[in-house]
Amino acid sequence: MFKIGCHLSASGGYTAMAQTAVSIGANVFQFFTRNPRGGMAKPIDKKDVADFLAYAEKNGIGPILAHAPYTLNAAGAEQRVRDFAEMTFVDDLKRLEWTPGAMYNFHPGSHVGQGAEIGVELVSSMLQRVFAAAFAASGKVSTTVLLETMAGKGSELGRNFEELKAIIDKTEAGLKGDLAGVRLGVCLDTCHVWDGGYDIAGDLDGVIKRFDDVVGLDRLKAIHLNDSMNPLAAHKDRHAKIGKGHIGAAALSAVINHPELRDLPFYLETPCDLQGYKEEIAMLKGMRKE
Ligand code: FE
Ligand code: FE
Ligand code: ZN
Repeated sequence: MFKIGCHLSASGGYTAMAQTAVSIGANVFQFFTRNPRGGMAKPIDKKDVADFLAYAEKNGIGPILAHAPYTLNAAGAEQRVRDFAEMTFVDDLKRLEWTPGAMYNFHPGSHVGQGAEIGVELVSSMLQRVFAAAFAASGKVSTTVLLETMAGKGSELGRNFEELKAIIDKTEAGLKGDLAGVRLGVCLDTCHVWDGGYDIAGDLDGVIKRFDDVVGLDRLKAIHLNDSMNPLAAHKDRHAKIGKGHIGAAALSAVINHPELRDLPFYLETPCDLQGYKEEIAMLKGMRKE
């Protein structure tokens, strides 16, 4: 089944998001766990969560993808920045225990001049502490945590598959005992990998093969489906509407139909309002081959 949806505003709660998804032809959605610039999350509304779970079950909605705030930087140079990242991450994982089967996507961070090696070390050690704290609080970790592929803007980590793999390996090497089974995944953003220099328009098979060789396709859990306002390897990260950017509709059609990708959930993060998303979803359903 084609799992397609988009980023939605979380301001009305889970049930409202699911209803909005259905109204635009979506069966998955992404949302920010809190203001994308940081700050406190709203307390969990247990009635809303219960209503959502029933509605999602009945309407075949999911998996839902929670997105961490952009300001979360586990690789920051300042302790204050790293502490905020860790505290937010643990809080989000605790909250996501209310919606089992959700995934949590985050930007690996920016090393802000400390170097990628130190950045990878900081992110991995934070993830180990985060999983331990989440397990201590909830007795389990039900949420799959995803590292997002990044465009390589500034000192962003995750600019290539090797950096993601390094974070995954370093993190999992330190997960012992109750946490030994916890596995990290990856969310591939089509705009970001394109901007990062992976030619998904000219050689999609080659990029997928590269991902499989470096990270392993079993790690790939979600796709952010975006066109890009910039040419290959621009390292800019400006999303375009599907078919209105440098990647193009034909290449993105190949992405949603590729045998290794087609069963993954696709989340649009294009510059659209709800009506725009509805139209993109309808267009993509038209491009989807049975
Ligand atoms: Fe993102
Ligand atoms: Fe993205
Ligand atoms: Zn982006």
